[in-house]
Amino acid sequence: MSESPKNAILQRDNTYAIIPKTGFAGLLNGDSLRKLADVVDKYQIPVIKMTASQRIALVGIKEEDVNKVWADLGMEAAPATGLCVRSVQSCPGNSLCKYGKQDSLGLAQRLDELFSGIALPNKFKMGISGCPLNCCEAWTRDFGAFGKPNGFTVVIGGNAGAAPHIGKVLAEGLSIEEVVSLAGRLISYYKENAKNGERMFKFVERLGIEEIQKVTLA
Ligand code: SF4
Repeated sequence: MSESPKNAILQRDNTYAIIPKTGFAGLLNGDSLRKLADVVDKYQIPVIKMTASQRIALVGIKEEDVNKVWADLGMEAAPATGLCVRSVQSCPGNSLCKYGKQDSLGLAQRLDELFSGIALPNKFKMGISGCPLNCCEAWTRDFGAFGKPNGFTVVIGGNAGAAPHIGKVLAEGLSIEEVVSLAGRLISYYKENAKNGERMFKFVERLGIEEIQKVTLA
């Protein structure tokens, strides 16, 4: 069997899906939409799918077209697979939503710029919401944050997969820069101390939230 083309995900029918990095937190612009539409028409790509992580997947690409599609797009691949910090999800927050208490998009942009794609012992998903209604589901992400009037609450160790877990509160009342700095310390600590393949919820269970607070909030 031949090796899959780079940055392409094999599908059931032996075609490929690709997930370009079009921006962060599902934000798009006319230029990226036009490029996507152009390759969809040119290579007769049958499926355009919004993913659960606020990305756009182009699905059903023939093997011989994958590299040509990437060349035409001129975009990087989003970190959609593998053991790393994946794309950061965010709701519109207080820049657009009337319920927003904090700037979730501003926080998501900083997190995406600094950490997206960093290799880790397991995948690491982030969800950022502008208020406690939590449209971006911070409680079920490896790292989540949601806005309250006094700042962001950070929760870690949530998971919505085969073994659902609600995250635990790591810190409250933080500014954007304080959340970014805490995320950096947590990611380093997790990278250095988690067992191979240990997802954040298992890491939190094994070490205890108090121990992680002691190290990352010091
Ligand atoms: S979490 Fe709050 S701020 Fe974000 S979209 Fe939902 S209601 Fe609006």
